[in-house]
Amino acid sequence: MYCRNEFVNDSIINQCNMLNASITLSSKLNICAALTYCYNGKNYIIVNDKLSEQKRVFSILHELSHIDLGYIGEKYEKKVDSSIYEKIVNLNLVYKNRRIINNKVYILLYLYAIISEPILTKKIVFGGKNV
Ligand SMILES: [Zn+2]
Repeated sequence: MYCRNEFVNDSIINQCNMLNASITLSSKLNICAALTYCYNGKNYIIVNDKLSEQKRVFSILHELSHIDLGYIGEKYEKKVDSSIYEKIVNLNLVYKNRRIINNKVYILLYLYAIISEPILTKKIVFGGKNV
């Protein structure tokens, strides 16, 4: 289980299946929340196991967004948080996951995705929508 919310958890598993990705929680990541690499056509996401559930879910969805966009490898490695690629990855995260985002003023998340990942991480509410 990546998240106690079943709807969010199922969405993560579905995205992994669609993107040929697997997730490993690791205690050995100290300097970053998560990293992704591709090997023999399969995508591997390593997530820091010390993150809160909110940050873990965000990090997993962020890495899945990297894979979805094909933004993997040296060129796209996070050198600065303000990298244009990181903003695109977070915009895609919000767009692709709108079914599992519960924020009432949803459009603000696009603004946060552009101005600040820490604010987006704090403000975004993952859950399920009965639609
Ligand atoms: Zn990133």
